[in-house]
Amino acid sequence: MRLKVLVDLPRHSPLDPLLDYLAPEAWPAGTLVRVPLGRREVCGIVWGPGDEPASPDGEGGAVVLREIAQALDALPPLGEAWRRLAAFAATYYQRSLGEVALGALPPDLRELDATQLVRRLRRGDKLDREAAKAAQAASAEAPPLPEPSDEQREALVQLAAMPPGPVLLFGATGSGKTEVYLREAARVLAAGGQVLVLVPEINLTPQLEARLATRFPGRRLVSLHSGLTPAQRLQGWLAAHRGRADLVLGTRMAIFASLPRLGLIVVDEEHDPSYKQQEGARYSARDLAVWRGRAEGVPVLLGSATPSLESWHNALPAAEGGAGRYRRLDMPARIGGGALPRVRTVDLARIAAQFGKRAVYSQPLAPPLLEAMRERLARGEQSLVLLNRRGYAPVLHCTSCGWKSDCAHCSAWRVFHRSDRTLRCHHCGFSERVPFACPSCGDPDLQPMGRGTERLEEQIAELLPGARIGRIDADTTRHKGSLESQLAQVHDGEIDVLVGTQMVAKGHDFRRMTLVAAVQADAALFSSDFRAPERLFALLMQAGGRAGRDAELAGRSEIWLQTWHAAHPLYAALRRHDYPAFAAAQLLERESAAMPPYAFQALLRAEARSQQAACDFLETVSAATLDWPEAAEVLIFPPVPAPIQRVADVERAQMLLEASSRQALHRLLARWQPVLSQAAARTGEARVLRWALDVDPLAI
Ligand code: ADP
Ligand code: ZN
Ligand code: ZN
Repeated sequence: MRLKVLVDLPRHSPLDPLLDYLAPEAWPAGTLVRVPLGRREVCGIVWGPGDEPASPDGEGGAVVLREIAQALDALPPLGEAWRRLAAFAATYYQRSLGEVALGALPPDLRELDATQLVRRLRRGDKLDREAAKAAQAASAEAPPLPEPSDEQREALVQLAAMPPGPVLLFGATGSGKTEVYLREAARVLAAGGQVLVLVPEINLTPQLEARLATRFPGRRLVSLHSGLTPAQRLQGWLAAHRGRADLVLGTRMAIFASLPRLGLIVVDEEHDPSYKQQEGARYSARDLAVWRGRAEGVPVLLGSATPSLESWHNALPAAEGGAGRYRRLDMPARIGGGALPRVRTVDLARIAAQFGKRAVYSQPLAPPLLEAMRERLARGEQSLVLLNRRGYAPVLHCTSCGWKSDCAHCSAWRVFHRSDRTLRCHHCGFSERVPFACPSCGDPDLQPMGRGTERLEEQIAELLPGARIGRIDADTTRHKGSLESQLAQVHDGEIDVLVGTQMVAKGHDFRRMTLVAAVQADAALFSSDFRAPERLFALLMQAGGRAGRDAELAGRSEIWLQTWHAAHPLYAALRRHDYPAFAAAQLLERESAAMPPYAFQALLRAEARSQQAACDFLETVSAATLDWPEAAEVLIFPPVPAPIQRVADVERAQMLLEASSRQALHRLLARWQPVLSQAAARTGEARVLRWALDVDPLAI
């Protein structure tokens, strides 16, 4: 008997990833198998019956099919819903089905043979028994539920009355969205369903994990994210797939968890860019969650205080110019009636007029902000100062000849890190000791230009003598556990002022923090990335939302912005905590410029040894579409160098595609895919090194 088996072939392979094999048994679709492929044996997934064998004397009869080596049939087959999700993701994001489906399995699972699998399953049984025992012991201690607030009650009543489908839960920070997720989860669990909860980042899983575990002590909870060991990830995945885990909490990869009893998907902080995978199959876990919910007839809760403009648009009724695809539930009030922090702007132009421009540039904190931080210090409260740039200074320069610390391998500056006196490229990692003198003219007077978190920390220490200052960024949290221990220090009140990048603004609940300041907020207003204002707004609202969660402290909580453009409408909306007004203004701009969510985009990136080769490739594949009817409704822009044109000695170029309908864009992409592979193969390995399509790109 013949079966079609899905394998993960190397990219752009001319072979179809569905291959026919001989099988002694009709294993059902979704069964994992080991099959010979070339000289290797690989993991495959039975995808359906094979082609009818051609008659022995007819054409094709000479093809000798190979046999499936073994079936891992101790594992229940991957269900149809799961296979359809993989197939959809592959088609939508223009990747091979084999890559997407097999890539969605835990890496350890793909390595196992049948005997090893049985051993892992037995280990899983043991874990399940232990979990069940622990659950039994714990279920007596289920905590008393908090009485829902009026808004929560209203949201829950509405949810109960709605048909399954995507719902945007638009609730202020601290409005109790999590409580709504938990109540919905309880309802679904009681009905025998499994609940999938997605969070943007691994370091947010422990908080929510603890909350889920206390809330559902009798339930089996597993997590799926990249911080787990391969063995843990495998066991978590198996528990979900065998229907033994009730709750699965994970980062974007968890959207591909196999969940035979799926009853609810929650996407917390749905606006977060980390839901978009940035390499390989560049999927959006949020968008796949919506698709999966629809396909499986399951409700999807998208929660945010600052939704993505795409989701906001989808949740706006058609009468208000929206797409009317999602329902929306609003929870504007904070639990306990706590006020949202007051937003205060420092008008740097006024300060400059008063004290001189030099005073503004040399001081990271303007006098009124510094004064506000001194007050916090005196009262024993904490402040958070945000700056989205790590290192001491973004560039080091020579005061006599103008030399700058560029990277030899990238079109970027190397960042000056003072702690270990290095110049480090944040794009390729190239790092060197700071030279004693200018490499170009020999002058020893090399000076930092601009300011990163390291320098900000140093300057604040000078401005606030005696204050205990901490810093959290990618440099201080490189070692495993260091982020946790630094966060614990903040929670324990061992730090007065925390300096950090956006990494600290997400999800952490700092109870004694009553001031959040963005010292260089303006950068996003003039970014070439059209999503930068949306990100800035979300960052500030989120960071501010963390401040003063205690009702008694909330009253004196403040968000401070230092800006040269105090009258900017974004800041005006922020001062009023008015996300809907901000979104309306942004959507108007997007609509008039025909940008997402009013247009659908794909970005084709190419990497080559020379910029010319990368652009030639893009020109060629663009020209190939000239007379296609599929290209009629798609605007293909000319190729341009990537924002950082050269990284690690590789030249990068890109080309944007835009269409007013998703279908039109996908019709073109479907026909284009083979052309891309062929063109890349023709120009040869030596010229075009790599290309990748990014559907619904987040950054252009
Ligand atoms: P969000 O996720 O919207 O930012 P949370 O769900 O984290 O807000 O709720 C904020 C705080 O309010 C949490 O400490 C939570 O335990 C508490 N909380 C939520 N709902 C209630 C309620 N109904 N009664 C009392 N406290 C609540
Ligand atoms: Zn010099
Ligand atoms: Zn570099």
